[in-house]
Amino acid sequence: MSRPLPPGSTLGILGNGQLGRMTAQAASRLGYRTHCFGPEKNSPAEQVCTVSTIGDYRDEAALAKFFAACDAVTYEFENIPVAALARVAKKSKGKLRPSVEILSICQDRIAEKSFLNSIGIATAPWHAVESADELVVALAAVGTPSILKTARMGYDGKGQRKVLKPEDATKAFADFGGAECVLEGFVKFEREISVVVARDLSGKVRTYVPVENEHKHHILDVTIAPARLPAAVAKQALAIAAKIARKLDLVGVLAVEMFLSKGGEIRVNELAPRPHNSGHWTIDACVTSQFEQAARAALGLPLGDPVRHSDAKMKNLIGAEANEWAKIASDPKAKLHLYGKAEARPGRKMGHVTWIYPKKGK
Ligand code: AMP
Repeated sequence: MSRPLPPGSTLGILGNGQLGRMTAQAASRLGYRTHCFGPEKNSPAEQVCTVSTIGDYRDEAALAKFFAACDAVTYEFENIPVAALARVAKKSKGKLRPSVEILSICQDRIAEKSFLNSIGIATAPWHAVESADELVVALAAVGTPSILKTARMGYDGKGQRKVLKPEDATKAFADFGGAECVLEGFVKFEREISVVVARDLSGKVRTYVPVENEHKHHILDVTIAPARLPAAVAKQALAIAAKIARKLDLVGVLAVEMFLSKGGEIRVNELAPRPHNSGHWTIDACVTSQFEQAARAALGLPLGDPVRHSDAKMKNLIGAEANEWAKIASDPKAKLHLYGKAEARPGRKMGHVTWIYPKKGK
């Protein structure tokens, strides 16, 4: 599949959350049909896709049927169990973009950090922990303060615990049920930034400007685009993201979350091989959004121009914050995005709002 799939073809999306919804909206605008696959009924993605399959990611037969019904497949969620998917993707001869290998790396903190360090990219100091004995070794190597994180299935601060003294780590490891973990040195960062990078089938790389992220209760609250950074630091952040995309042989979109120290030193925290919450501003402030890039890459189209026409601030609407929708909708400068979730549970990402401003700088 080296030529672009023609409009009318079907883009499959594994996962049925808001990222799938916004990817489907972008693909639909380009004239493609969309088909999402995931476990939830009446999901954000199901509401906007042409077709929806409710299914379990471990159900190989259901996955195979889904792949057969799609011309290209991407994913919006990195915690998909890979065993069944890997077998189905292999038989589909390249329909899945990004690849299942990238998914495997990015869903496991140990694989991810090993990969980053192997290509010369700095992370927080870390040590893998698979047993109570190894925890002792890790504590000696990494020290405190540190953070114990489960290697898999962690997001929005879930599966992680701050470690101020060795007993905290012992308790956290027991609370996580002895699951494989990493002990990570606590980074005294000045700011958290991220870069969304896209790469197409021909190997062309396009990056969005680095953005600045503020978290509340471990969940992204606000993104400011562009990040307020010295030009040399911004350039380095872009170079790191581009290098990761090339080394992974990415076809798709990938977000690189980074810690920035006072001295301008960058350490990569996490990778997400999909559109990212810190890239939502690109819908309203860039020529081509991150979602359109994800769709384009998966469909074999060339990437669009990621240049921003405006500066932007994006605020997530978490839980009850979405109840302010009418007020936000009456602000003519606010672009309101709601994800169609019925119940505004605490901590749940219900939508976001983007304000755009005249562009300053490059
Ligand atoms: P993560 O799930 O790894 O993205 O972590 C969620 C958030 O916890 C990050 O965005 C940081 O605010 C904080 N955090 C994670 N790891 C570290 C670390 N090694 N040092 C300091 N803060 C961290």
